Amino acid sequence: MSPLEWIRCRIKRTVSKGCYERYSQSCDALRQRTVHSICAKGLWRVSESAFAASCVKKKRYAPGKRGGGASKVTAAVLQENAILRHTDGSQAALIIEHGELVDMPTRYRIYGADETIYDAFFPTDCVLSVVSEMADGEAIEVGTVGREGTSAIPLLMGGTTTANDCYCQVPGRAIRLPIAHFHHLRTTDTAFRVLLDHFLQAYVSFLGQLTACNRLHNTEERCARWLLLTQDRVGTNRIPLTHEYLAMMIGSRRSGVSLALGALRQAGYIDYMQGAITITDRAGLLRTSCQCYVVARKLFSKLGSHREADGEL
Ligand SMILES: [Zn+2]
Repeated sequence: MSPLEWIRCRIKRTVSKGCYERYSQSCDALRQRTVHSICAKGLWRVSESAFAASCVKKKRYAPGKRGGGASKVTAAVLQENAILRHTDGSQAALIIEHGELVDMPTRYRIYGADETIYDAFFPTDCVLSVVSEMADGEAIEVGTVGREGTSAIPLLMGGTTTANDCYCQVPGRAIRLPIAHFHHLRTTDTAFRVLLDHFLQAYVSFLGQLTACNRLHNTEERCARWLLLTQDRVGTNRIPLTHEYLAMMIGSRRSGVSLALGALRQAGYIDYMQGAITITDRAGLLRTSCQCYVVARKLFSKLGSHREADGEL
């Protein structure tokens, strides 16, 4: 793949057709530059940021801003996120006043690598993916966030940017809180900060588990683990997801994932069609999954992210 093709491929995945066509013209202008200049990460980021800024002005593409729709946050909605459900009084009032409940379609962009983060998202029934992308366009999921936590992990560690991309992988809704209000809550409310610390500790612990999982456990086990965790987070048996994205999320080839999913369907544990996977036998998936699901559940259940109806381990 040539550098120019790589740029076009990357942009095509993240912006609308109109934006892509406009940017394609920009790519033609870039053609005049040297290949190394186009590929240089710094220049690329500058080009991308400038392009995104121009699109924001034209209201075509707004990374980190509103998605398909937004509505007011209510006290009942706060209960759907494990961190926010513990807020009360003035803290809850602040979130209700300044936050908004955002519809999160698949591929909704939370933040990009090296981009300033402006909002904290608290999923209620969507799943966010933190993805590391290589220079050749290959990408792998390096972390996930559901209703047990928040997208603001870099902010919790003192950063304003990160080296990874973050976007919505399984559609649903999330509460968006502008960063100024997020930091105000975090610095003035000790209990809120403790909740965030507990989430961060569980998240980092699970990152280590995922590293071991990707190295030691087979594709079928990892598919089962991912599906079980996702079912816990979205609260339904039907998960909108293609084989291609699942392959990226568990770090396997698409062909291997298709074989693994085929085996799970043959066993009667799942079914899939038209870009969605349906869990039909949770107990069967539990028997198939590697131990990492149980580890994750123990880590995150301390935060109250799992429902009692999720079933026995
Ligand atoms: Zn595992």
